[in-house]
Formats: sequence, structure tokens, C-alpha cells
Amino acid sequence: MTELAVTPLTLDGATGEGGGQILRTGLALSMVTGRPLHITRIRAGRPKPGLMRQHLACVQAAVAVCGGQAEGAELNSQTLVFTPGVVRAGDYRFQIATAGSCLLVLQTVLPALMLADAPSKVELMGGTHNPMAPPFDFLERAFAPLVRRLGVGLELELKRRGFFPAGGGELVARITPTASTQQPLVPVDVLTRGPLQSAWGEALTPGISRGVAVRELQTLGQRMGWTQESGQLRQPPTRQNEGPGNALIATLEHAHITEVFCQLGERSLSAEQVAKRLVDEVRAYQRSAGALGLHLADQWMLPLALAVWRSGQAASYTCSEVTQHTATNAQTIALGLPVRVQITPAERAMHVEIAPA
Ligand code: AMP
Repeated sequence: MTELAVTPLTLDGATGEGGGQILRTGLALSMVTGRPLHITRIRAGRPKPGLMRQHLACVQAAVAVCGGQAEGAELNSQTLVFTPGVVRAGDYRFQIATAGSCLLVLQTVLPALMLADAPSKVELMGGTHNPMAPPFDFLERAFAPLVRRLGVGLELELKRRGFFPAGGGELVARITPTASTQQPLVPVDVLTRGPLQSAWGEALTPGISRGVAVRELQTLGQRMGWTQESGQLRQPPTRQNEGPGNALIATLEHAHITEVFCQLGERSLSAEQVAKRLVDEVRAYQRSAGALGLHLADQWMLPLALAVWRSGQAASYTCSEVTQHTATNAQTIALGLPVRVQITPAERAMHVEIAPA
């Protein structure tokens, strides 16, 4: 592992995608390297730039996990100076106001806690199914199994779903770092999906008419060739006090990877439109040969880069497409860690290689 001189990590939040991810990746990198983070023009690419409650929750969680200090941690602030302390494993509980995404807060502190010297338990309250954020099901089935392949224990338990804008969801994450602090994370290559083992769709409609689920599943089934009888169309039970909200989710379980796609219902969209959007997303993935889908491709980059840094070995993956999120995360990570990220076209896919710099 290359030691980093403790020079500040200076990020321009307006780069590329210009969203909250630059802040979250920056905080995570700062915590794991000990480099102070100085970020300007936070979320300059968004209609309401600066720190929203959701992003403040990420900053506060980072402060709590490493006993750090943050200047500029105020609503609408576009500049933040974050000075990390020493990461402490332990039990944490974060309440995210106004249904901010629990999963994005978890992804902010996960890199630090997975490299800590003892297990941690993180309880989160807020949104579990939010627009422009990974839903719980995606983290549980697609993201967490990949993280476990690095040698880290990551178990997620959903207590209650919370849909935007009401929130009220709750989940628990149990993070167990690799047994030995001497043993580096295992960098893994994920180049192919492997054969499809199962595929199914599920409609969540707590607190709203079940007719919505029926129509969504009908459209999804017609287009994907999935049926109730085969168990490929499901309406999972909802828990007390969940909702109101609607998510339509497709899961593709391949031998080497599971992908999860999700569309949230909106008042302005018919059930059929929600289903069509989901089918378009699944079809785009199926047309490609990349192992990871568009969202996993940007979110997997940081955990894998940490493994490359800690082990000194390169690792690669293929993905269906490179979004602005992926390209921007590559830039941010290369500024924060001594790694280089190379993205090249491959056969019906994109190839991402992370190597020690
Ligand atoms: P930002 O817009 O910069 O706050 O970043 C949003 C993050 O949420 C990115 O990592 C996206 O890949 C992720 N994301 C958005 N929608 C989904 C989805 N439907 N499934 C999984 N991840 C998502």
C-alpha cells in the first residue's frame, strides 16, 4: 500500500456530474486516507446547489464516524472543509431528516468502517426508496454481495421501507472488516455476468391501491415474458406503517453478478409508464455484455479502488455503459487515492481498470 502524504484533497463540486456523489466520495476518501477535504461549488450541477439536508446528513455521519470536524456544514452551503479524525468502529444511529436516502449515508461511511479495526453496526432512519438514489433492494442484492467478495462482511436488514417524501424507513447495516488488519482487501475482477439463473419483478405499493401493482406487473410480465405462475411476478407483503409509495423492481440473478433495476411510481406517471421505463432499463442492460449495470458501475468503483490501493494489485470490471456519475467518480477517486482509472470500450461493453498509480 502506498502511504499518502497528508496533503489536502481539493475537489471542485462542479466537475462532470456536479452532484452529491463528489461530496460523498470526497468524504469517504478523506476518512480512509486521513487527508483533509476542501470542496467548493458543492452540487453546482443541480437545480438547487449546495448542501441539502440529505448531504448534511452525510457530512454529520462522517464527522461522527471519525471524530472529524466540518466547517461550512450548513444548509445550502457550497463550500466545506472537512478535517478527518481517527475512524472508530462501533454502533451508530443516523436519522436522516426529510426522507433523505439512508443508503447514500451508508455508502458515505461504509469505506471507512470496512477498513476499521473492529465490526460496526449502523442503524439508519429515513428514505429507503428515493428518487436519484440506490433503493434498499439494490444495495442488498447487487452492491453488498460485491463488497463481500472483497473479504468484507456486509449484512443489511430492512426493518421498514420509507418512500420519498414521507420517509419513515429503517434499516440496519452490520459491517465486519477483513479479519486481519495486515491482510489487504482482495481485489476482484468482474468481467462477465455468467449465465442467467433467475429473473423476476416485484411491485411494492404500500399505502396505495393494489390495482397499481396489478397493472405494473401485467405490463412488466407481457414485455419480459414473466408470469405469476412461474413466480417471476411478485407482490411482496408490506409492513405496518410503510408508505405511501410505489417501486417496481426487476432483479436479474446471473452466476457472477446480480443486477437490480428500480423505477419509482410518481403521480404524473401511469402504472404502465412505470413498467415501460423499467423494461427499457432492463433491455438496455441485456443488449450490452457488461457485467455491471449503469448504477452499480459508478458505485462499485470506490470499494474496488480501496482494494487496489490496499493490495497494490490492479482489478477490472466491465459495465453496460459509462454514465457521467461513473466518469466523475473515476476522476474524484484518482485525485484521492494513488490509483489510476482507465475506461476503454470493449465488445458491447465498457471496461474499467483500476491500477496502482
Ligand atoms: P448524485 O446524483 O450525485 O447524488 O448520486 C446519486 C447516486 O445514486 C449515484 O451513485 C447513482 O448511481 C445512484 N442511483 C440513482 N438511481 C439509482 C437506482 N435506480 N438504482 C441504483 N442506484 C441509483
